[in-house]
Amino acid sequence: MNEVRFHLKNFGCQMNKLDSGLLAGALSSRGFVQTDSAADADVVIINTCSVRQHAEDRVLSHLGHLKHLKKTRPQTLVAVIGCMAQRLGEQLIKHDAVDIVAGPGQLAQIPAMIEEALENRQSRLAVSKHIRHPDSIEHQQTLDEFEMQYDSDENHIKSQAYIRAMRGCNNFCTYCIVPYVRGPEISRPPQMILEQARKLSDAGIRQITLLGQNVNAYRYEQGDKIWTLADLLEKISDIDAVRWVRFITSHPGKFDDSILQVMADLPKVCPYLHIPAQSGSDRILKAMNRGYTSAHYMALIDKARATVPEIAVAGDFIVGFPGEMDEDFAATADLASRVRYKNCFIFQYSPRAGTRAEQKLPDDIPAEIKQRRNAQLLELVNTIAEQDNKRFVGRTLEVLVEGPSKMARRNTVENEEQLQLIGRTAHDYIVVFNGPQTLAGEFVHVKIMDASALTLFGELVWGKN
Ligand code: SAM
Ligand code: SF4
Repeated sequence: MNEVRFHLKNFGCQMNKLDSGLLAGALSSRGFVQTDSAADADVVIINTCSVRQHAEDRVLSHLGHLKHLKKTRPQTLVAVIGCMAQRLGEQLIKHDAVDIVAGPGQLAQIPAMIEEALENRQSRLAVSKHIRHPDSIEHQQTLDEFEMQYDSDENHIKSQAYIRAMRGCNNFCTYCIVPYVRGPEISRPPQMILEQARKLSDAGIRQITLLGQNVNAYRYEQGDKIWTLADLLEKISDIDAVRWVRFITSHPGKFDDSILQVMADLPKVCPYLHIPAQSGSDRILKAMNRGYTSAHYMALIDKARATVPEIAVAGDFIVGFPGEMDEDFAATADLASRVRYKNCFIFQYSPRAGTRAEQKLPDDIPAEIKQRRNAQLLELVNTIAEQDNKRFVGRTLEVLVEGPSKMARRNTVENEEQLQLIGRTAHDYIVVFNGPQTLAGEFVHVKIMDASALTLFGELVWGKN
């Protein structure tokens, strides 16, 4: 076979980024070559997200472009993978542009499916028939082995890698599609996670992020021992070449103190918690089936701050959930003011077919009110973050450099040694400063000169590492 070029476009969360990285690695190891442009690819793969309608609409519009592209390049193979593939499999395979549809549970089969389709030009649909049934042991092993082959890939930021600690979710928040597209919650065997961490660190990875929808719920029974997230963090910290280890996303429901304790005790465990509250109103939290109250949430944040001084807290909120009155929104704003988040992702409620909220609760908050609440909450969170970020001015922080900023990548630069670079601190603050591209993947020190709500601006301090 001649060289086969693939283009991979990712929508959605870190889980999807990880899946895309795994797939890109697997295809490259089979001799496929990755390309930046769909227009000169033999295979276009779209990894999709179903969390909000907007995410699905973007994929559908992208498929419209690909349909057009296929008029001039009919041999281009299009594969739609990920959450939307699982949710809308039958419908998507009928789309004029689409040749392959495969859900998240079929990730390991995709390279072979692509090779077959390139040979026989037949379309293929592979999704889980009973998504809430736990996969067979063999199927789980296949997925685990697929993950093990991954070292580092070009899609990733240099020196950083994700490792999946858990698949799926059993929480059934009433608005959320994830349990219906990613299946039941499963903790991966600790030995596999640790072996992956060692392999990645041998390949030059310095920061590892453990992933799970509810990653603090990680539990794996082995004889008398029950492995927890705190155990994983401790063991990964023991790997010499790993400098930082972090985890996302945490659920406030059952958050074990041991996680805060390892954060306080082990310098490599980053003092950063992404712990969405979703709402500050107990009535809405109940309707969302979140399993906690705003008082419980606030007590957890207070405990985190008492155990890990200067811990950075990030969150998510949904505004315009069915029945959200002005006083519910006021409770959300009040919670956000008390927590003082580093940053928040704010989403307008989007009904997802098949979820309990969609079936039982009318989407009764008008779009203008959702937009207004979104803008108000964002402004509040940003104002607080900007005030808090000013404390960094004059301080020198350690930063893991990601690479040139978006601006530097867009513009032609005159001085290659003075590119605008972007990086993050252990607390996950975004830092922008000038320096040479060769620093990508390195730990450097940056003196902070100014701060906005989302970014710290600084100057590189040479020779401090
Ligand atoms: N597992 C994580 C948790 O429970 O916090 C988050 C997973 S979800 C992929 C990411 C975020 O999308 C959620 O925290 C929530 O704020 C938002 N989200 C999920 N379903 C949504 C919906 N139907 N409408 C609007 N936002 C939604
Ligand atoms: Fe969705 Fe809730 Fe599971 Fe997060 S915990 S993935 S919001 S069901």
